Amino acid sequence: MSLLSVIVPCYNEQDAIPYFYDAITKTAADMQETWSDLDFEFLFIDDGSKDNTLSIVEGLRDKDKRVRFVSFSRNFGKEAGLYAGLKNAKGDYAVTMDADMQDPPALLPELYKAVREEGYDSAATRRVTRKGEPVIRSFFARRFYRLINLMSSADIVDGARDYRIMTRRMVDAIVEMKEYNRFTKGIYGWIGFNTKWIEFENVERVAGETKWSFWKLFGYAMEGIIGFSTAPLSMATWFGIFMAIVSFLGIIFIIVKKLVYGDPTSGWSSMVCIMLLIAGIQLFCIGIMGQYLAKTYLETKQRPIYIARKTSEDEAKKTGYNATGGNG
Ligand code: UDP
Ligand code: MG
Repeated sequence: MSLLSVIVPCYNEQDAIPYFYDAITKTAADMQETWSDLDFEFLFIDDGSKDNTLSIVEGLRDKDKRVRFVSFSRNFGKEAGLYAGLKNAKGDYAVTMDADMQDPPALLPELYKAVREEGYDSAATRRVTRKGEPVIRSFFARRFYRLINLMSSADIVDGARDYRIMTRRMVDAIVEMKEYNRFTKGIYGWIGFNTKWIEFENVERVAGETKWSFWKLFGYAMEGIIGFSTAPLSMATWFGIFMAIVSFLGIIFIIVKKLVYGDPTSGWSSMVCIMLLIAGIQLFCIGIMGQYLAKTYLETKQRPIYIARKTSEDEAKKTGYNATGGNG
């Protein structure tokens, strides 16, 4: 038997989940025709949704015991959802996908084939177009991937989605990384393993709306840069060296001018400008250090990445039902 865990982080997805469940169970049935020993579990992570997401998932569980869920005590963000999913998955393989059908279930057989038959540790998807997305958003997204790849050793692929299948070994490696400030795209790049990339055209979400505002994405980008690069920290050093060289040349210029022409440089306004420039650069650099310090501070608290309020397993305990369907 080979178990595939399908991990679905959901935040206010009451409208999308029924479509998703329909599509994924159809795909599952098709795949079972090809691989007869394949079994599924559908692990929904309810990320503190404020709508009926949880009751819909509970309804699915009542009729299909392959459905499991973990419901958070509040909204912890998609990264926490992915972590909770990987941590609770029981499968020999795990795939993470969005509830809104932007990660087409139809690609799943191809992904599964790559890890099961082609010897890859992981198969990931990348959308080659950003059609249907606001132009400004795509523009900043592209700049972000450029920048982070310049600065960081973790190789982060532009357009990569969180739609990815992995072997148990890779899942365990990710769960081992217990950092509180999580940036999963960077983690995948950092842990290595050989990955097959599958490309597809962007698909628009089936129902509901995107949970990412521009500023939420901006915060996410900062998370990625600070989490996977220390290059900004050395910027202070480079600025410092540059300013020192410039001012040294300036001093020589003034001395020579005084000796040769006997004409001391006057003017306080240029002085004020220079002082303001230097003060600005200093504050900027202190700000960068502050960002890293803040992240370090949060890490040292060793807070849990998520807190579960309810899971399908506690309900199973109450009724005496064995949650893994009898074999676990
Ligand atoms: N999501 C989540 N927690 C959040 C935000 C989003 O679990 O705080 C889930 C969401 O329900 C969806 C997936 O992450 O399944 C991707 O979110 P969305 O479709 O809003 O992002 P987009 O595709 O627009 O980048
Ligand atoms: Mg989406």
